[in-house]
Amino acid sequence: MAIDLHKELRMIKEYAQEHNVPIMQEEGIKFLTTFILKHQIKNILEVGTAIGYSAIMMALVNEDIHVTTIERDEERYLEAVKNIKKFGLQNRITLLFKDAKEIKLDEQFDLIFLDAAKAQNIAFFQNFEKNLKKEGYIITDNMNFHGYVNVKLEEIQSKNLRNLVRKIKEYHTFLEENDHFITEFYPVGDGISVSEKK
Ligand code: SAH
Ligand code: MG
Repeated sequence: MAIDLHKELRMIKEYAQEHNVPIMQEEGIKFLTTFILKHQIKNILEVGTAIGYSAIMMALVNEDIHVTTIERDEERYLEAVKNIKKFGLQNRITLLFKDAKEIKLDEQFDLIFLDAAKAQNIAFFQNFEKNLKKEGYIITDNMNFHGYVNVKLEEIQSKNLRNLVRKIKEYHTFLEENDHFITEFYPVGDGISVSEKK
């Protein structure tokens, strides 16, 4: 049965809007899918499925691509299961209903895409770097966090926000100082970093 891709994608985006699900914006998705195409990425691990939007967009780049994606929120996970079925992508997208800080994986990936809890990126990075092939990439979204990373911590009033921004800055430094990876930062969408394993 043929489905109307554009209509289904629009419906996922509408659901995200209505339920406050922070799916990737147009510009970020464009960057990600172009990167996957250009580097002939086949096996992808995504941390932070939400309702499956970015996983579907990545899988649609071409038919050889397989995405494994992790989500810990049950409602979103179930919505993702539905959406992926609608696109007939259940053979190419593996959904794991798990906490990405705890799950251990054995597979090797060409690309790991971190788009879950912004404060936990160091933990995700360290949990999954052993699952990255040599010369593979780790891409992280939300590196600029609405421009807050350029604001001095003392100037941020809310304690929670200040702690979150501190964690994002720490991840920034962690990437810059990591000898096993070369990282480039791109001012795309909410800020994207690309770390290539040496
Ligand atoms: N990549 C998605 C958006 C992800 S939003 C897209 O663009 O379509 C971030 C998601 O990460 C949220 O749904 C949140 O529940 C999930 N998340 C946060 N911390 C997590 C963790 N430790 N393990 C698994 N999922 C997590
Ligand atoms: Mg994001």
